[in-house]
Amino acid sequence: MDGKKLEYKGEEALRELEKLTERTGEVQVNLLKDILMKNKNTEYLNKYMKEPTEVTTFKRLVPVVTYADIQPYIQRIANGEDSSLISGQTITEMLRRYVPGLDKGKAMYLYFVKSETPTPSGIPTRPVLTSYYKSKHFKCRPPDPFNDYTSPDQAILCTDNRQSMYCQLLAGLVHRHQVLRLGAVFASAFLRAISFLERNWVHLCNDIRTGSLDSTTIVDPGCRTAMSDVLRSPNPLLADEIEAICRCKSWKGILCQLWPRAKYIEAVVTGTMAQYIPALNFYSGGKLPLVCTMYASSECYFGVNLNPLCDPAEVSYTLLPNMGYFEFIPLGDNGRLLLMMDAGNEEEVVPVDKLVDLAHVRPGCYYELVVTTFAVGLYRYRIGDVLQVTGFYNRAPQFRFICRRNVVLSIDTDKTNEEDLHKSVSMAKKLLEPYNALLVEYTSYADTSTIPGHYVLYWEVLHLQHSSTTNGVVSLFDAHLLPECCSTVEESLDYVYRRCRAYDKSVGPLEIRLVGAGTFDALMDLCISQGGSINQYKTPRCIKSAAGLELLNSRVKACFFSPRDPTWIP
Ligand code: AMP
Repeated sequence: MDGKKLEYKGEEALRELEKLTERTGEVQVNLLKDILMKNKNTEYLNKYMKEPTEVTTFKRLVPVVTYADIQPYIQRIANGEDSSLISGQTITEMLRRYVPGLDKGKAMYLYFVKSETPTPSGIPTRPVLTSYYKSKHFKCRPPDPFNDYTSPDQAILCTDNRQSMYCQLLAGLVHRHQVLRLGAVFASAFLRAISFLERNWVHLCNDIRTGSLDSTTIVDPGCRTAMSDVLRSPNPLLADEIEAICRCKSWKGILCQLWPRAKYIEAVVTGTMAQYIPALNFYSGGKLPLVCTMYASSECYFGVNLNPLCDPAEVSYTLLPNMGYFEFIPLGDNGRLLLMMDAGNEEEVVPVDKLVDLAHVRPGCYYELVVTTFAVGLYRYRIGDVLQVTGFYNRAPQFRFICRRNVVLSIDTDKTNEEDLHKSVSMAKKLLEPYNALLVEYTSYADTSTIPGHYVLYWEVLHLQHSSTTNGVVSLFDAHLLPECCSTVEESLDYVYRRCRAYDKSVGPLEIRLVGAGTFDALMDLCISQGGSINQYKTPRCIKSAAGLELLNSRVKACFFSPRDPTWIP
């Protein structure tokens, strides 16, 4: 496709966006009608509605559900019953409007696939982006000067993340003078790449110097073929340039030195990913805008950021009314109700007449997102995200992403909620019993000061025979006990955590920090001194406040980790 045609396609997409957002309410009702018509024979809809094409009946009778409610259906599909696939068109070309000349260079976007696991009936299960990279849409896309990636497709499609990362960084370095933008899907993945570069730049420079790929570690045939095209001949000059930059003691601002024409970093930096903004700013020396373009999930594409160069704290997503049928559980118009939400609310039955349509949400108010999807067969499904309305684009509301409901810990794509954490800790604390020891209290913290980040659990343990000696507690345990507790917690966490930890290595070894007796009482005193109520005080299962962390860290008696490379299989 030539440049003119692509330019036209981009403009057409923007015109479509105008039309859709001007007719938000109408587009939503028509979309719901289409969804119902398409799915009128499904067992699920027939269970609730006699005439499954009526919008009003749908709104009256179909319940709001969580994953637990639909899990039995998913299990049946996994076992071989009929299902349908995800589909959807997206508008992603907003950046051309704001950053000119993006067709005059390359994008170093680091994308990765994950390995697939088959269901009992042989359907592969994989994250949505892996499906996309493996699809014809991606693999057979026509050349597009606006999306000219440095990474060869074979490197993106290599399921060994280490080899994939190595080759993608190598290609990015080889093309360093043509690179106009940097990025990854999530900020955590981009930072992992920088940390990988810190450990491997000597090898990478060596390959550039000799014009040949390290044959001991890069063995994937697809990667080798693709990289032989990238590394055409020895380039000692380029290798020297990169080496001189990487040798610097401080890597502050290194991104602008390695990729001097880069105009921005694109990655999700809202929600839990906001914790990585300071690190990204450090590596860019604060010189590259952080661009967050889309808000999406495996279940459904939600929306786009129409002001992509704005500060990450100001990002709002315009929900695209043609992507799914969106409804909202109202959570009030200030943060107070939000703060009162706890784990129990997941179980609550949401009265269907409380739901608000996309076209009727109110500015300033907080909502939990509920979707009915086109092709995936989800009806009134609680995504689990809490959003706040910030304004409107035409008639389409715009939302700030506030948080994931009830997620206490997240480093990468893992999302651990209070219940999962509690279950895992309960499994691990059983190991203390033979030692006459008791877990009195615990809390947690997502430590992202290391790359990759890792989960930290603060444990206060009471030894029933020697409860008076706090230091003694540590020495009474056998040396393997607490590392085993760390492993047991990890093995009991969900599949995504275990995959991130054991396969993607995007989460580091879990740490237990033993704290001295009375630490959690001191934590309670601190919370109360800051305005908490004694009556309603519950130990927070995750600590984010600097003062809370300082208190806990000042009382740590010993730290224990799970093994670097877990032996269990995700
Ligand atoms: P997954 O289905 O694993 O791809 O995860 C989807 C979830 O990731 C969403 O429901 C959000 O909680 C989170 N997410 C996706 N995009 C964003 C974004 N732009 N900002 C904040 N969180 C996001």
